[in-house]
Amino acid sequence: MSDLKEYDVVVVGGGPAGLSAACLLAEQKLSTAIVSPFYPKPVPQGQRDPRTIAMMQPSVRLMEHMGLWPTELESVSSPLKHLRLLDDSGNLLSGTEVTFNCQELSDQPFGWNVPLPDLSLALLALAKKSGFDFYEDEALGAPLKGDGVLVQLKNLDDLVAKVVVAADGRASNLRKSAGIGIAQWSYDQVAIGAVFAHSGPHNDMSTECHKQDGPLTTVPMPDNHSSLVWMVRPERGKELMSLSAKSFAGELQLELHGELGIISDVINRKSFPMQGMNAMTYASNRVILIGEAAHVVPPIGAQGLNMSLRDGAMAAELIGDACRFGEDIGGDKVLTKYDTNRRRDVWPRQKVIDLMNRSLLSKLPFIHDARALGLNLVDRITPLRNAVMREGISPTENLPRVMQT
Ligand SMILES: Cc1cc2nc3c(=O)[nH]c(=O)nc-3n(C[C@H](O)[C@H](O)[C@H](O)COP(=O)(O)OP(=O)(O)OC[C@H]3O[C@@H](n4cnc5c(N)ncnc54)[C@H](O)[C@@H]3O)c2cc1C
Repeated sequence: MSDLKEYDVVVVGGGPAGLSAACLLAEQKLSTAIVSPFYPKPVPQGQRDPRTIAMMQPSVRLMEHMGLWPTELESVSSPLKHLRLLDDSGNLLSGTEVTFNCQELSDQPFGWNVPLPDLSLALLALAKKSGFDFYEDEALGAPLKGDGVLVQLKNLDDLVAKVVVAADGRASNLRKSAGIGIAQWSYDQVAIGAVFAHSGPHNDMSTECHKQDGPLTTVPMPDNHSSLVWMVRPERGKELMSLSAKSFAGELQLELHGELGIISDVINRKSFPMQGMNAMTYASNRVILIGEAAHVVPPIGAQGLNMSLRDGAMAAELIGDACRFGEDIGGDKVLTKYDTNRRRDVWPRQKVIDLMNRSLLSKLPFIHDARALGLNLVDRITPLRNAVMREGISPTENLPRVMQT
């Protein structure tokens, strides 16, 4: 008999996608372990990851389900009551804009803007309370072993699982080991993330300004602060990163045409290369891919982690259901259902984000006019407007049960 430790599920990757999936699996009384070389740690303000996550209502409902909302997370977050798309590309129809107001859909905000470091630490604290096993190591692969998989670790003893949930990020070892190919591409852009203060109010509005080199997005935070995602060409990115905080604030104020008043106190500036990636299948050989192990999108329309949280919740739901019905939790039925469900959600979003981004980078004037015209139509045609709003928040069908109203 093997003396290796056996689990129902091993989750690989201690980022927000992996931690949330592991908590949901452990909740269903499945024996669960998580493996990651790093877990979130508190980092002083000024050196933190600048990313904030515009968590849409279904993701907020997931946090409620896990007991993480409303908690102290709410006090560091801001409601998203208005979402504005603005064409500021300088082309013929520049100036076109559409503003969605949450009251058009319900009495709830569209979602909340939550700092990623706070979210990650809250998920880690919950995971520690959930009582499943933690391993601090790198997973190298997960070959099939009998009716399960062997999770090979770099330094510690290997583990055995019936199914593996791979949340080990965009360079996923587990994806490669399961023989899953990818399509990947890069954009001639970087995204500069930062947090800044402003003298004017943001009125709980997130604005995505479509500029010639990519969108510049501001997302509200408490106390007249906002987070920034500014997509620019790499050479401009280098220039902006080399500026003093004060000069950067001046450049940003200009780009925003003074809309948020005087910009100051820019902190946590970081540049992210812009890439896209999609796995050929999201599940194979007893390995289920979630988060950036499955798909990577540029930060447009706040889709990345929202999709990843749906991945984790759907994986936990299907594995839990199979267990209750006495079925193989890593069998083809679970894997096929997962792949079909997630593809329907991720694929169209990835395509829309890609098209939107490429239309900004295009040198063809009619592409810019078509984009601005599209915005105009969305603004004026009510059924189209409502459909864009609803689908922008989440898929209207096949949401994991823990995210449904
Ligand atoms: C500027 C910017 C703004 C964004 N804004 C938003 C937004 O508003 N809304 C939104 O939904 N999304 C947003 N995103 C996307 C979001 O940040 C990412 O989708 C998310 O953080 C990825 O989480 P993850 O858990 O999948 O991956 P990661 O956070 O990369 O986690 C991967 C984990 O796997 C571990 N790991 C790696 N290799 C191994 C191994 N071999 N074995 C074990 N563990 C391993 C790592 O240590 C890490 O813990 C934004 C992204 C950017 C760049």
